[in-house]
Amino acid sequence: MKKILIIAGHGEGDPGAVSKWGQEADLARELTNLIYHSIGANVNAELYDTSKDCYQQSKRGNRPRYEKYDAVLEIHFNAKVNKDEWGDGRFTGTGGYIHTGAAQSEQLGEKIVQNIEALGFKRWQIVKGDNLLNMNNCYSLGVPYFLLETAFIDDGDDMTWYNAHKSAISKAVADGVKDFFGVSKSDPNLTALEGQAILSAAQMSAYLKAVNSNASASVLKMIPYYLSEGETEGIRGDLAFCQSCLETGNFTFEGSAVTLDQNNFCGMGVTSNGMKGNSFSTPQLGIRAQIQHLKAYANTQDLVNTCIDPRFKYVQRGCAPYVEWLGIQENPSGRGWASGAEYGEKILDIYKKILLIKTATEETQPIKTFLVRVSIPDLRIRTGAGLKYPYVGYCPIGVYTIVDTVTADGYTWGELKSGAGWIALEYAEKI
Ligand SMILES: [Zn+2]
Repeated sequence: MKKILIIAGHGEGDPGAVSKWGQEADLARELTNLIYHSIGANVNAELYDTSKDCYQQSKRGNRPRYEKYDAVLEIHFNAKVNKDEWGDGRFTGTGGYIHTGAAQSEQLGEKIVQNIEALGFKRWQIVKGDNLLNMNNCYSLGVPYFLLETAFIDDGDDMTWYNAHKSAISKAVADGVKDFFGVSKSDPNLTALEGQAILSAAQMSAYLKAVNSNASASVLKMIPYYLSEGETEGIRGDLAFCQSCLETGNFTFEGSAVTLDQNNFCGMGVTSNGMKGNSFSTPQLGIRAQIQHLKAYANTQDLVNTCIDPRFKYVQRGCAPYVEWLGIQENPSGRGWASGAEYGEKILDIYKKILLIKTATEETQPIKTFLVRVSIPDLRIRTGAGLKYPYVGYCPIGVYTIVDTVTADGYTWGELKSGAGWIALEYAEKI
């Protein structure tokens, strides 16, 4: 597995740049930690001791053993001569430093900066030089190195944007590292909890009626909340529904410690036999708490809604990004939602059954398809129609069938027939 060392700039008495938005050393440490937790599977990330300043240590001859790593990333915040701490309506932007002539380092920097730009931020520049100690040490060992100047600490526009987007930025940086290493951003053999639902409310409703002919009208009515609450937090609500089917015995509550009127559809708070578990005032809030609890496991991002999950604080954030890892026995770090063997697999068994259900509305939808030719090598495939959706790879040059189009963020997006995702049709030619 590829190995990266992540260093937070300054510290050990050196605050770095300072503005009304804080000290560079502190901001760099916060973001470095977020990046470290965003990298997750597929890359072996190591954090340089955040109580130390790598520059001061290296000057004293105590440099990290860079030769152990496939790349090094150092996090800073930038500062400028004509500061505008209160903002003037314009970004100064993101960029960084690489060693002159280090082609690999340039690729690393480009991938990271491009991903941050894609979130709607401005590019400042990637500066080439040979006068930074840590950079030179890496260069002399042939280790790719990028110093990220995340944003300008003394630009009010930069910092307002940064503070509102730091978890997304940490993910963009982590994805840039994975792009550079050429590794998948998620494990293709596992099912990510993050993302958009695939099952429709009609499919889930049809499934429930089939397995529980006594399912009450109130239960059938609340199914769309799984999708809307999931969408809000970026978590797959369809998988949450499957988890509820498992936890409640398909909403029969047979053999369950909780009852329907508790609006607790995931066994939350039932930590031992005989406990009644948590209660919520409406079905929507019970589902919201479940989604929030899944998000606690799935990633380290802030909640969009106010936290109503009474157990959110007990979760080691991001310890189970995949359904399969919700089971403590299957989780590589021995954490998770439930202790029973194959917990995640049981959820996915339900999911696979629902996936096969064809509902009338889906069968009768007319599909107008057309062909496009892609002639550029770097057209991104995104998981949805819009820039806010993560991209999962590049569309190889070739001819593709488009099965649906949606306009968003100034582009017309076309859905690939293969199901791989969406591409911006402005960069393809209709044939
Ligand atoms: Zn700095």
